[in-house]
Amino acid sequence: MANVFEDHIASVKDFPNKGITFRDITPILQDGKLFREATHQLAKYAKSRAADVIVGPEARGFIVGCPVATELGLGFVPARKPQKLPREVKRASYDLEYGSNILEMHKDAIKPGQRVVICDDLLATAGTLRACKELVEELGGELVGAAFYIELPDLKGKEKLPGLDVFSLVQYH
Ligand code: IMP
Repeated sequence: MANVFEDHIASVKDFPNKGITFRDITPILQDGKLFREATHQLAKYAKSRAADVIVGPEARGFIVGCPVATELGLGFVPARKPQKLPREVKRASYDLEYGSNILEMHKDAIKPGQRVVICDDLLATAGTLRACKELVEELGGELVGAAFYIELPDLKGKEKLPGLDVFSLVQYH
């Protein structure tokens, strides 16, 4: 099945900047059966980790994570860019190659002791994942896994989160 997913990921050279190859998952989303199968595989993984709640970072994490949550009958928690959530938030910032980013979660989004699986389209340097982990733990949750459509293992994101269980459908070296 991994090849079917790979066949439906578009690799776009020099986007958004020169020298970067952007991995575009929208062809998977456009194919109803494949989108369902991708969701199903991530849901199977989240179930194997006994997840209580799914967290997805803005914006593609919403697309990937929401159907996983609904398939399992679990709640979904968005990790959002600043100034988007209307109530009290916890905030985590993380470094990018140039500059930094911020993610926020509502303070009451996760109950103490809840087992959390994070879902997103792609794992690269793991800056996003680390920020989500920090927020989950500050709210009293336990991060028990992370699931992606795509992983870029050469960027060694996993090494920044030792001990964290990570699942992905396709890996690009
Ligand atoms: P990281 O924080 O370096 O692991 O980068 C992962 C985050 O950046 C995810 O939230 C992705 O949505 C986004 N991202 C980085 N590169 C790509 C790409 O090639 N395609 C799609 N999303 C990407």
